[in-house]
Amino acid sequence: LRINGARLRSALDTVNQVGFVPGHGRTRLALSDADRDARNLLVGWLKDLGLEVVVDDVGNIFGKRRGHDDRLPPVLVGSHIDTVKRGGQYDGVLGVMAALEVIRSLEDHGIETDRPIWVVNWCEEEGTRFPPGLVGSAVWSGLRTPDWAYGLTDSAGLRFGDELGRIGYRGETPAAACPVHAYLEVHVDQGVVLEQSGKTIGVPKGIVGLRFATMHVEGRADHAGGMQMVQRHDALCAAAEMILQVNALPNRFGADMVTTVGEMHVRPNSRFTVPASVDFAVDIRCWDDDLALRAWEELNEFCEAAARRRICQVSGETLLFTGRLPFDQSLTSMVEATARELGHTTHPMASGASHDAANLCQIAPTAMILVPLIGGRSHVPEEETSWYDCEAGANVLLQCVLKSGAAVS
Ligand SMILES: [Zn+2]
Repeated sequence: LRINGARLRSALDTVNQVGFVPGHGRTRLALSDADRDARNLLVGWLKDLGLEVVVDDVGNIFGKRRGHDDRLPPVLVGSHIDTVKRGGQYDGVLGVMAALEVIRSLEDHGIETDRPIWVVNWCEEEGTRFPPGLVGSAVWSGLRTPDWAYGLTDSAGLRFGDELGRIGYRGETPAAACPVHAYLEVHVDQGVVLEQSGKTIGVPKGIVGLRFATMHVEGRADHAGGMQMVQRHDALCAAAEMILQVNALPNRFGADMVTTVGEMHVRPNSRFTVPASVDFAVDIRCWDDDLALRAWEELNEFCEAAARRRICQVSGETLLFTGRLPFDQSLTSMVEATARELGHTTHPMASGASHDAANLCQIAPTAMILVPLIGGRSHVPEEETSWYDCEAGANVLLQCVLKSGAAVS
């Protein structure tokens, strides 16, 4: 039993025409008109299959296929249909269309399951419009409240709650998780790990832990011509040493760690003034929580020393820390075994990117099925896969749904 690859491709292409601007990729920001149009397509297809379509009060869409025993906890499959600005044609939407194709294939072959199978499109995954993202899955999983979601605002000051109503996707059903037998999400791997492994199916053991922090460096402003070098308290020179140290952390703590400084604010940011103060962002991600903590502590020690040498002061402030989020081991093993049964090579890994599965794994047995992107390039119009890998991922999903859902005919 296999999915219909041509039909999956055609569904993907149809959704990807929504928000498409030639040369600029696809832009379907959450709760925009493009998001609404893509949702309308999905809802139409779910209804064509005879599924019960439920939209909850934070805009998540469920297509529910009945099981023989409809009281059993469902198997939940899906991802997100929204994109970043100028996004690609696979991130998120592949997982939703693969879930849809699984249901279509079950229908083709008249296969019923003991458990209900639910397709889901999570609302505002990307967070491009309403940061921090993963909004719908966070509320459904009970990690956030609907009021938190409603109060989120975009850069134009528009509120999530109002925009949800405007596009007609503020449902009546409260977003609240029920017991779930298994959550499965197909997604593209948004880095080079899987591609460089040369394997077809990535099987993440979970989502890496992350620490978002800010370093505040205090020096003193002085005249760029008048003040002697040895007398200066140059906050930017101190910060420069610290930033290179952030970059060097993975050399010392292992290649599973990635570190980034992507933002810096210099004051007064004036050509003829010695920099008085600098704030810069630190992003540390690592599967091993202990290593990540040691790296953060050592970084702070280094920064103290660098600040002393430059006659400055430094303080580190953690904005967000999350430990790693492991997926369900038996479900992960099932994905791996299923992929091998289908003749695909597999690669065990940790996901450096976050996904709705990061919320779901906190309330339900969860696993992901990753497929490689060419060059690992995501969140860009050039996002591309070898189509073979997408079909492989969807077929692994189909078989895992058959096993989890207990196919009966
Ligand atoms: Zn995504």
